[in-house]
Amino acid sequence: MCSAMEHELVPGRPLSAPPSVVLRRIAPFVIASVFAFGLALVGPGRMSFGDLLPALALEAVLVAFALLIPLVGATGTWTQATPALGYFLVVYLVDVESTGPRRGLAVLGVLPVIWFALYGTRAQLWAGVAGLAAVLTVPMFTVGPPEFETEDWHRVGTAVAVAALIGYVVQRLVESLREGHRRERELLADVRTVSAASRDISGDARGRLCQAACDVSGASGAAIGEVGEDGMLRLTGQHGMPAVLGLPAIPIDPDSVTGRVVHSQERFFTPDHRDEPGVQMRLPLMDAVHSILWEPIVRDGRTIGLLLVGWEQNLGSISDRKVAIIGLLAADAAGIIERGDLLDRLAHQSRTDALTGLPNRRAWDAFIARECAVADRTGTPLCVAMIDLDHFKAYNDAHGHQAGDELLERAAGSWTEALRTIDLLARVGGEEFVVGLPGCDAKGALGIIERLRALTPDGQTCSAGIALRRAGEPIADLLGRADDALYRAKDDGRSCSRIAA
Ligand code: GH3
Ligand code: MG
Ligand code: MG
Repeated sequence: MCSAMEHELVPGRPLSAPPSVVLRRIAPFVIASVFAFGLALVGPGRMSFGDLLPALALEAVLVAFALLIPLVGATGTWTQATPALGYFLVVYLVDVESTGPRRGLAVLGVLPVIWFALYGTRAQLWAGVAGLAAVLTVPMFTVGPPEFETEDWHRVGTAVAVAALIGYVVQRLVESLREGHRRERELLADVRTVSAASRDISGDARGRLCQAACDVSGASGAAIGEVGEDGMLRLTGQHGMPAVLGLPAIPIDPDSVTGRVVHSQERFFTPDHRDEPGVQMRLPLMDAVHSILWEPIVRDGRTIGLLLVGWEQNLGSISDRKVAIIGLLAADAAGIIERGDLLDRLAHQSRTDALTGLPNRRAWDAFIARECAVADRTGTPLCVAMIDLDHFKAYNDAHGHQAGDELLERAAGSWTEALRTIDLLARVGGEEFVVGLPGCDAKGALGIIERLRALTPDGQTCSAGIALRRAGEPIADLLGRADDALYRAKDDGRSCSRIAA
């Protein structure tokens, strides 16, 4: 099994394998003929070794030729057939030398026919049958009676017909075995793809699932549509159809193909969607495909979405194998989608402050590292500001911890609204925040921070320390200077901003 996998047996190219494998393929035939020659040398009416020598020498040459083919890397199907065809000459040579009871050696001409049945193409098989016919008839003319009676036609005809029949049946059998083997490997590859897709925990689980659907079915594109709580269909993942993402959600028309698949939970295949009046979504992606499969994604008895798979060509019909494997992927899809969402949520949570919903220190660290790299590369200014609520302990004491929490939330909300999208406000301590202001010099940053301070809710105040990053300055030093400036603001009576030296 292993060697068959390693050295694919392509019909007509049995010698495209390492010499050891070639040797294994030709050995039974060589042994059979050498055994027959051996028997011809013993017993009454035996042949002399000299009579056999030309045939043996030619056979040796043919074996050497067969072993040479993989070494020189010849891959032509008829080059590969040459040793077997040459063997007819061996049989001819031994046949014309043999007499009396040894005449039966011509039957060795069946060996190449069997070789072609096992390893050759259909054309090579018929060439082998013709070779056998030639081996049996040519001596009638070259040697003639009494050794080769010309009335032997019926015997020759029967032998050739039987050899042809056996060769054909054996070749059909071998073909079906090979086909079974190919299917088995295909199935194994499919199972691997499906299992890889369902094990995939990287981002964009939906995209990977669509890719797997294309890989196993030869489709040019696939997309996932999800049915929301509102009954609308949203395209949430794709492979080979980038245009589908960002399309607005659409209501599902119950009479459309999509509606029928969602409600019946039965797949629908159309060889060409242009001929299908019930196709609701005439998406831009559909121009490029003809055949489409709608596969429902069902979870706990409810259709949560659709796996849409499209083929560039008109498939005519869809094979059971494709249906089965896409069905498997869709069955996995529900779990994959859920797990993907969970991972996305986890990733989001790990970077978000639970109370305020602001980015946390981890997100801030990533942001500031990125922005420092940009500033180093482009030479644009970059400011950071530390902001700290004033007398927050007293606020807590006066209004309760709950009210303190609400103040934090509201401050975070109103400050975020006042910032540009390229800025980042993060909560890095109890009532301490940090702001990153790319592209801002100290004066610009001061203007923005003063605006923020004025937005502090509930009549509360805060203090801020601002630092403009020096070229190549380490992040810790930059934040240290902003922190020093914040302390100065506190020392100077709070409710003010100070710029670091
Ligand atoms: P200063 O003006 O010097 O900054 O005084 P402050 O009272 O704001 O600073 P201090 O460091 O003395 O106290 C900070 C307080 O913030 C103490 C703590 O109870 C409160 N705090 C920290 N985290 C939270 C939180 O998540 N919720 C609430 N409600 N209070 C918090
Ligand atoms: Mg404080
Ligand atoms: Mg503080």
